[in-house]
Amino acid sequence: MNSPKLLLVLVLLGFSLSNSALSAADKPNIVLFLVDDMGAMDTSLPFLTDEKGTPVKHPLNRFYRTPNMERLAAQGTRFSQFYAQSVCSPTRISIMTGQNATRHKTTNWIKPKSNNRSKFTPANWNWTGLTKSSLTLTRLLGQSGYQSIHVGKGHFGPFDHEGQDPLNLGFHVNIGGDSIGQPGSYYGKRNYGNKVKGQDEKNTYGVSHLTDYHGSDTFLTEALTIEAKKAVTQSTEEKKPFYLYMAHYALHAPFNSDARFAKNYLKSGKPKNAQAYATLVEGMDKSLGDLLDHLNALGVAEDTLVLFLGDNGGDAPLGGAHDYGSSAPLRGKKGAHYEGGTRAPFIAAWARPNPANPHQKRLPISQGTTQTQLATVMDLFPTILNLVGQEIPKDHPIDAHDLKAQLSGSPNPDRPEIFLSHFPHEHRSNYYTGFRHGDWKLIYHYPVGKQKQRYELFNLRSDPFEKADLSTKNPAELKRLFSEMTTHLKAQGALFPVTADGRKITPVAPEFL
Ligand code: CA
Repeated sequence: MNSPKLLLVLVLLGFSLSNSALSAADKPNIVLFLVDDMGAMDTSLPFLTDEKGTPVKHPLNRFYRTPNMERLAAQGTRFSQFYAQSVCSPTRISIMTGQNATRHKTTNWIKPKSNNRSKFTPANWNWTGLTKSSLTLTRLLGQSGYQSIHVGKGHFGPFDHEGQDPLNLGFHVNIGGDSIGQPGSYYGKRNYGNKVKGQDEKNTYGVSHLTDYHGSDTFLTEALTIEAKKAVTQSTEEKKPFYLYMAHYALHAPFNSDARFAKNYLKSGKPKNAQAYATLVEGMDKSLGDLLDHLNALGVAEDTLVLFLGDNGGDAPLGGAHDYGSSAPLRGKKGAHYEGGTRAPFIAAWARPNPANPHQKRLPISQGTTQTQLATVMDLFPTILNLVGQEIPKDHPIDAHDLKAQLSGSPNPDRPEIFLSHFPHEHRSNYYTGFRHGDWKLIYHYPVGKQKQRYELFNLRSDPFEKADLSTKNPAELKRLFSEMTTHLKAQGALFPVTADGRKITPVAPEFL
């Protein structure tokens, strides 16, 4: 090879090397901060708005203390109508796949040791969750050079199945993630539910991996935060862009009081377990603040997108499943077909806003803004992947919309305001499909076993707290919504409840159809 050619080769080689080095360094970090069982009302930061879109404080907002959520919201955009499914695993798998639970078919929470099937549940519901061959957010991020760090609750599959271990699903680091949907205990002194100090007891609700903290005074939320900070530091030192899935076990039962915050609620007049729940909320909020401080200390805050959310409606011990209490003024709580079952907090912000930062130029987030247009947990999937420039395979259908337009502060004129919540199971509400489009929401109750067929229809604009069922007063709207609901169920391949002898029970139209 003569020297000009050699020079050309070297120049090209050098160019391509520096280019790939640039592209690796040119990826933003992502923190997905997922709080278990956190409803829209479990915070001092108001998410509900008045008719003009201005956030309004309700009594529960004055009970809880979440200064770091307030800090994050001031730096970014909160959503006043953000939907998750009504229980854990369906939402967690939607985050990983961008698909509605109706489509991925894990429509109920996963029991660690058995099929969580009720009497009339379709036999082929996906009770085993994600597998090594599932296309996941983390696997796609891996293709873009990301280090994916799992901290906290997994709940992606039962024991002795592939979904038990987040490392099977595209994560590179796993701290505390397993089949369990709740910790045996939040207390280090109780080894986080493990019977034997220094050991993980896989057949109990013991939290894995945190054996160094067994016997200590470190609350579970704190231990997970310390470990998350270490993992983030390591990725930063290795110059790998990271995706931190910070999935707190808090605020899920058992409602163990976090001694660091107990005094703040002693004079609240609330029951003792509600006070304990509030300490779980405040400990989670401290974790958020500690992580934000850590990103700033590492010098990567400007380059880090933070997505804060809950995985279903709240479960505060302040009332029954269908009344006004736990999520007041919203009706219902976790597991219910009412808004309190499916409305979760969502905040998106850069950990340190700087409009001149190249990542932030690609995804500008309006500061101190409340977005009133509906959004869902499925939307995180395309939002994250489009930001990092990772293509979603064409053969992987999603039920989601990129949030870019909504994060800029305006509504997205191209997104339908639709949320489908299909639940062919028994829990706090049994065998129902909820379907929202725009101002209207239909709840269809399947005629299963002793349950009678029933329709409920609400106008959430004029009646956001679901007090007036309009199903008999507005048959035209009922008919329209029912027809749309069945179209969406069909498009997503819904599995329906079955009779005792295995026959499918599909929705029956109102008699005047
Ligand atoms: Ca949950």
